[in-house]
Amino acid sequence: MPQRFLDAAAAICGAAHVVPGAQVEPRYLEAARYGSGQAAALVRPATSGEAAALLALCAASDLILVPQGAHTGLVLAGTPSDAARQVLLSTERMRECFELDLLDRTLRVSAGFKLSEINERLAPHGLWFPIDLSADPSIGGMLAHNTGGTRMLRYGDVRANTLALQVALAEPAGQLLQLGRGLQKDNAGLALQHLMIGSSGSLALVCEATLKLHPLPRQQAAVLVAPASLEAVMPLYQRAMAAEFCGLISAFEGLSRPALQAALHVCGDPGRLFDGQLPEYALLIELSSELPAAALDLNALLQQWLESEFEAGNVVDAVLGADETIWALRHSVSEGLREQGKVIGFDISLPRRHFMRFRAEAAAWLAQAFPAARVADFGHLGDGGLHFNLVWPKSEAALPSDELERLRAGVYAIVAAFGGSFSAEHGVGPSLLQHYRERSDPAALRLAGAIQAVLNPQSSLGLTNFGPA
Ligand SMILES: Cc1cc2nc3c(=O)[nH]c(=O)nc-3n(C[C@H](O)[C@H](O)[C@H](O)COP(=O)(O)OP(=O)(O)OC[C@H]3O[C@@H](n4cnc5c(N)ncnc54)[C@H](O)[C@@H]3O)c2cc1C
Repeated sequence: MPQRFLDAAAAICGAAHVVPGAQVEPRYLEAARYGSGQAAALVRPATSGEAAALLALCAASDLILVPQGAHTGLVLAGTPSDAARQVLLSTERMRECFELDLLDRTLRVSAGFKLSEINERLAPHGLWFPIDLSADPSIGGMLAHNTGGTRMLRYGDVRANTLALQVALAEPAGQLLQLGRGLQKDNAGLALQHLMIGSSGSLALVCEATLKLHPLPRQQAAVLVAPASLEAVMPLYQRAMAAEFCGLISAFEGLSRPALQAALHVCGDPGRLFDGQLPEYALLIELSSELPAAALDLNALLQQWLESEFEAGNVVDAVLGADETIWALRHSVSEGLREQGKVIGFDISLPRRHFMRFRAEAAAWLAQAFPAARVADFGHLGDGGLHFNLVWPKSEAALPSDELERLRAGVYAIVAAFGGSFSAEHGVGPSLLQHYRERSDPAALRLAGAIQAVLNPQSSLGLTNFGPA
């Protein structure tokens, strides 16, 4: 990296916040799941102005700026891979703005704030930003990947809860632009802020966002259900969504038996969950309400519904009233699977009617083509999302990369045959680009490429090229 660039960057954000590539700490380079990258330099601006100036500097120096928030993304879109040309911009110091509007119930916030910090600051006001997941991402990263999470069924994804953005453009390089006014109702032109959401940091650098806030629930009640059979699972979902309390359902998650076993291995199973008779597929159902329990007893509502499902023979067991334990289990699945071997993750979504048929067909293909792969799926069943994760056991020789590609292509082909998406909520990045190109309509690819050419003509921002190769 030329000293000239390092000096110019230091003049923008301070020498203490410009780090040459060889001295960058591993946490900025090690990807959340597997793999590790390299960078020409790390820069850490504190303000929108500094971030915009660094973007302009990279463009003028023929370098690529790679934005990074909390580095929990799962598609390698925030992990630089080129020690000569890629400059990593960490947003962790971008915290200048935190403007809460209690009347409008909105928050204007800098990109570097983490989700947990935002919700801690909002809690005393009885408000929250209702995206919930087992990682702690930054606002900028959540916008770049349009994060979903476990409560999307009730509140929607990041896009549904974003009113406006302040972005720094790659063209004209370093120009700051406000998109949207932060109003709930605003049809005065194209909503360009939504074009930037889900663009993996490759159309614009998000500096600030205006978010829609929700009242914090006063009570929640969760139950872990053992359905009578696999066939009983989707009808249970359908009946729950048709029940009187459907508007109160805030999560409807599914856990296959291997996923549940992996979570129990992490959390321990002192109570002998389901008396040791783990169902083939368990369901985590949660109700939330802004009303206190004295006005509306969620546990009683759930219990009543469960009793009718027990009587009808659709449910054989249930664990009620241990919300923290139940959620701890759900959030421990990934860790439990990693302990067993290499996880081959598929973040997919499907029309609900095909859910179980997809699982059966994909498992049957794997049993024949890759018998060592263990299916341990779980996910956000209620919003159609499924983490169709496989474990390649430690006892097996590592899969060569061409075989891994064959496995991935085989599963994605089955996803496509059922009308599903190869990326439900993790976005698109280098690890998925090949499948993105193979699975997208060529005309849509050309349009995406044309839009990217306007906003990022020199490819000086981000690692994801949404156009045709
Ligand atoms: C244990 C675990 C559980 C997870 N669960 C879920 C889940 O349930 N649902 C879900 O949707 N995701 C989930 N994820 C994925 C991940 O948390 C999300 O994709 C998250 O939004 C990434 O945010 P980040 O701040 O970590 O971004 P990073 O990983 O730092 O970056 C991700 C992308 O955002 C870009 N970016 C970062 N900041 C900016 C900015 N200011 N402007 C423009 N681009 C920017 C980067 O360039 C990159 O393209 C999970 C991840 C882990 C590790």
